[in-house]
Amino acid sequence: MSSKPSISFWEKEVFLKDIDLIIIGSGIVGLTAAIEFNKLHPTKKIVILERGSFPSGASSKNAGFACFGSLTELASDIKIMGENDVYDLVEQRWRGLSVLKGLVGTEPIEYQNLGGYELFTNHDQNSYHSALNLMPKANAELKTIIGKDTFQKADNRINSFKFKGIEHIIFNQYEAQINTGKMISRLITLARESGIEIINGVTVNHIEDLNTSVEIDTTLGNIKCLQCLIATNGFTKNLLPEIEVEPARAQVLITSPIPNLPFRGTFHYNDGYYYFRNVGNRVLFGGGRNLDLVNETTTEMVLSDLIQNKLEELLNEVILPSSAFEIEQRWSGIMGVSGSKKTISRSLSENVSCAVRLGGMGVAIGSLIGRDAARSIKY
Ligand SMILES: Cc1cc2nc3c(=O)[nH]c(=O)nc-3n(C[C@H](O)[C@H](O)[C@H](O)COP(=O)(O)OP(=O)(O)OC[C@H]3O[C@@H](n4cnc5c(N)ncnc54)[C@H](O)[C@@H]3O)c2cc1C
Repeated sequence: MSSKPSISFWEKEVFLKDIDLIIIGSGIVGLTAAIEFNKLHPTKKIVILERGSFPSGASSKNAGFACFGSLTELASDIKIMGENDVYDLVEQRWRGLSVLKGLVGTEPIEYQNLGGYELFTNHDQNSYHSALNLMPKANAELKTIIGKDTFQKADNRINSFKFKGIEHIIFNQYEAQINTGKMISRLITLARESGIEIINGVTVNHIEDLNTSVEIDTTLGNIKCLQCLIATNGFTKNLLPEIEVEPARAQVLITSPIPNLPFRGTFHYNDGYYYFRNVGNRVLFGGGRNLDLVNETTTEMVLSDLIQNKLEELLNEVILPSSAFEIEQRWSGIMGVSGSKKTISRSLSENVSCAVRLGGMGVAIGSLIGRDAARSIKY
């Protein structure tokens, strides 16, 4: 007797037969790709296989920053990637955000352009000066992509935010925030309304391109399709060991509502290693991977005391030094990263392609990468 779950005739006939395209992963990339492929080929049968009850990587777990790069991040990326690649990436993120807004709308996902702030303590003097040095050039470059004077000094806001130990602030007037849950729910609704099947609780173990079809070994048994797109981001190495994507766990927490919360917007702290934002009058706070990079290079979606204690300490001492609050919930998600911040979106064989390695900016670029991956599938 097989240990695979038994599939009924009806389930096989309706859900698992004559599939044109299987997409593995129902994150922002997989869902956007499915929606776009359906627009291009409305009669083709599309099935998304998702191992979790929800999309279970990063797309329903992230912090909801609709961001495209802080000045310290740009300065550090320029050293590694060079100016051209970095500003190309900023442009890609900005275009990605407009693809996302075009697809799901702004109101349904509570898109709010509250601006983004980068915070500097007196220990961050070097980063502050390199950010200031870069500001005129970055503003000039971004003017052609986004608009006028993206970045500006904002030390005059330090007192009103009531942080402790912050010496300088740089403001990005175009950074925004979204309700991540509503974004992913909206994408799932759009996909289902287009007739795309999303089958949850199915893990893909192996994919074989047979040239005229693709055979997919799953926890539900073998499923055949004509084309397959792998959108598994941080989990990609399980299926494609040769692809350069490492899992990167990111941990966050959210507070209880805080009466008279003194700030709104998205915030980057300590060279971007920490990030926080208001969610209504709560604070969502995450980061600290740099404290334990080895153990955070994992697909295990659990929490660590080291990082959670540090988040709590910074919340008490720097971010909310004069407010009473409780921590209401903590969670983690898995990103897909590597030394390069470029995504990998390419064909792997005749009928199999992948769109992975979204890094920490998948809200911004995910829809663009998903859309373009669907456009490249041959039909
Ligand atoms: C805590 C956290 C905070 C973040 N904050 C931000 C932010 O503020 N702004 C921003 O732009 N980005 C942020 N990111 C990054 C962003 O969320 C990701 O870049 C983006 O969601 C990636 O989308 P994806 O579709 O490529 O991958 P995912 O959303 O990870 O989707 C991949 C899916 O594939 C499924 N899967 C994997 N393997 C298999 C398999 N073998 N079989 C079946 N299914 C499989 C997974 O369950 C998952 O649902 C954050 C990430 C985390 C974790």
